[in-house]
Amino acid sequence: MRLQNKVALITGGNSGIGLATAKVFLEEGAKVVITGRNAETLAAAEKALGGNALTLKVDVTDVAATERAFAEAAEKTGKFDVLFANAGVAGTTPLGATSLEQFNAIINTNLTAVFFTIQSALPHLNDGGSVILNGSVHAVLGAPGWSAYAATKGAVRAMTRNMASELAPRGIRVNQVTPGGTKTPIWQPLASTADAMSGLEARLGGMSLLGRMSEAEEIAKAALYFASSDSSNVTGIEIVVDGGATSAP
Ligand code: NDP
Repeated sequence: MRLQNKVALITGGNSGIGLATAKVFLEEGAKVVITGRNAETLAAAEKALGGNALTLKVDVTDVAATERAFAEAAEKTGKFDVLFANAGVAGTTPLGATSLEQFNAIINTNLTAVFFTIQSALPHLNDGGSVILNGSVHAVLGAPGWSAYAATKGAVRAMTRNMASELAPRGIRVNQVTPGGTKTPIWQPLASTADAMSGLEARLGGMSLLGRMSEAEEIAKAALYFASSDSSNVTGIEIVVDGGATSAP
């Protein structure tokens, strides 16, 4: 029980990596709060977590609503020990066809909202707590169509190190999980049929040394390391869970 008596807040906890992390954190004894926008998937996640998580319906790009939701949650659960700033969107568009609106939408969710999620949680975060950001191998790997997304994840990577420095006086550790291609609903817009998904799995898996995409639980276990006292003297780093994609020749 590595998170006994700990309170963990996970944004985007109603799907994919966030939901898998909520399960792992609950199994390790944490009190878990999950956020999401979609009422239907939030309800499904609440059920999947056995009714043991507090759910918050909030759009993280709405800073005032996020501040209110976190304050309300902290009143119910007590101060947070762990924040997993995980909510994010993917989007690929060719450089020449990306509108300012599309670019701003991805920056708002994956970068601006991550910054303000952490800022909004800070007053409710215990000293000695753990903040975990969700990056991506796209911060260091090039792929056509991913420039806007990659820009957000490169910035998240930089923020991890700077926030680690800023929050160290409070004993708050700031680290990042860095997934490679991971099997979650984020890929549905790009691979909506079973055939398209297996083609995508083969292509993304084939880019790694171990030959497959990650499971969401494999990212969750890296988040658990950062959340628990196993990493009590670790801050400002990332764990890359990509089957070796970023080490492949
Ligand atoms: P999912 O689509 O399964 O989950 C994304 C989550 O983010 C959902 O819970 C979604 O909630 C939430 N979210 C998105 N936008 C908002 C918003 N404006 N306000 C509140 N919640 C929001 O994808 P993953 O689990 O794969 O993605 C989680 C993180 O992992 C992302 O940051 C992504 O960039 C990162 N990642 C994923 C990889 C992969 O291959 N899967 C690889 C590298 C990084 P709702 O559905 O309610 O909108």
